[in-house]
Amino acid sequence: MKYIFITGGVVSSLGKGLTAGSLGALLECRGLKVCTQKFDPYLNIDPGTMNPSQHGEVYVLQDGTETDLDLGHYERFTSSVLSQKNTLTSGQIYASVLQKERNGDYLGKTVQVIPHVTNEIKERIYAAEEDADVVITEIGGTTGDIEGLPFLEALRQLALELDHENVLFVHVTLIPFLKAAGELKTKPTQQSVAKLREIGIQPDIIICRTEIPISDDMRQKISLFCNVPVKSVIEELDLKVSIYELPSLLHSEKLDEIVCQKLRIQTQACDIQPWENIVEKIKFPKHECTVGLVAKYLDVKDAYKSVYEAIAHSGIGNDCKVNVEVIDAEELEQLNDVDEFFRDIDGILLAGGFGNRGIEGKILAAKFAREHHIPYFGLCLGMQIAAIEFARHVLHYADANSTEMVPETSYPIIRMMLDQINITQKGGTMRLGTYPCKLIPETKAHNAYKSTYVNERHRHRYEFNNDYREEFEKHGMLASGINPELNLIEILELRDHPWFVGVQFHPEFQSKPRQAHPLFLAFIAAILQKKQR
Ligand code: GLN
Repeated sequence: MKYIFITGGVVSSLGKGLTAGSLGALLECRGLKVCTQKFDPYLNIDPGTMNPSQHGEVYVLQDGTETDLDLGHYERFTSSVLSQKNTLTSGQIYASVLQKERNGDYLGKTVQVIPHVTNEIKERIYAAEEDADVVITEIGGTTGDIEGLPFLEALRQLALELDHENVLFVHVTLIPFLKAAGELKTKPTQQSVAKLREIGIQPDIIICRTEIPISDDMRQKISLFCNVPVKSVIEELDLKVSIYELPSLLHSEKLDEIVCQKLRIQTQACDIQPWENIVEKIKFPKHECTVGLVAKYLDVKDAYKSVYEAIAHSGIGNDCKVNVEVIDAEELEQLNDVDEFFRDIDGILLAGGFGNRGIEGKILAAKFAREHHIPYFGLCLGMQIAAIEFARHVLHYADANSTEMVPETSYPIIRMMLDQINITQKGGTMRLGTYPCKLIPETKAHNAYKSTYVNERHRHRYEFNNDYREEFEKHGMLASGINPELNLIEILELRDHPWFVGVQFHPEFQSKPRQAHPLFLAFIAAILQKKQR
């Protein structure tokens, strides 16, 4: 097995995850089987308890692992389905080491970062998928971070243990452009590589994030100061249209060729065509529409990362440029007349969320979509909101609510799931991961999926209260997807509406650029149909 390690230098947010995912995509285009991992140096056990405005969305894997949004990039760019084995934090490592210490596993020894913590890290790398040709491991954070040191030390040891031709280090770095001087600067990159070499890691490839092209002279300079061959200085220009341009861009810089040469892997030629087709579709769409994303995390796109991506995929699938307009749920609830807010909106999307903030604004948005026949797509909380709105304004249950928001509501349309009631501990305790859903024939959901059984990923504590199901259905809100084992409602949809669908799960986690999620596809298709009419 071959190992590629991706580190980052100078600043965070360089898009290491995208680079790792794109490299995975390129290796798959050469017929290789790729496994991707992300190691995060923070001390949380997982990001499940972190605020999305700080950390971005919590991405949920098939097995229910709550993890970093970069794993979403890996799943979107490659064909792998990831699990708990593909993610690791310092918190998990220390928890495991301390547990072993208490179990007496190290009896008599002093427990230390080297070798106990570093061994734990290496074990996780060695435990990556058995039948992969290449394992790509991204180390979160930036070179020089204190928390990151044990990881880098573990990589250094690993490179020594494995033959050198089996290990490759890729360093992603920033080449800042100084406006006043009118030039790009390589010094931060030199220093960050110097830092890595101090630890004993010599990068093989340097990927330079830059807003303008780097000259040949500059490549020579980086090569000289960072001790890499000049062809291994790879330019990664800011992307103009879409993140899905990245595989083609890196391919044109010969990244996959250099990686395969260095690791001595014989492969078929790289078939980049599928990625070029996607870029072509994105660049020249036939249609255009605007989706209103009613949200409470406003300035951080990362908080709804997979939702944005799934919308983009559905745009690709529908030959449509989809603009996303973020609508502040809290601002909405201050208004009496919300019409003005939705004037230029063709469809309304309500994403998941927790807690009371902005809830009433979201209910207004659902009401507007229902009454004005605007295509509506509710994800998780978005389905719950649609149900509450329907109960209040169609069934006239004035104070209908979720017990998450008002525990004593007289109409608990949404209530805590039975198996959640006695749980007080946070982190990994919700209903998480993949559950089956049976679709009812001749519904919008069934038409979209064109299938009777599907599996979707979950992350929630509350559910639709089945006591109200009959009443809902009698008045036109149908349960079109059901968990067959637990009889939980997974999908609600309005009968007499162009497209109004709420799902208790998170379809956005399974959408891919080359295969948009069926419900996202149907949502945008419904918008276009309505516009054409
Ligand atoms: N807060 C709701 C619940 O726990 C919805 C969660 C979500 O949108 N992910 O059920």
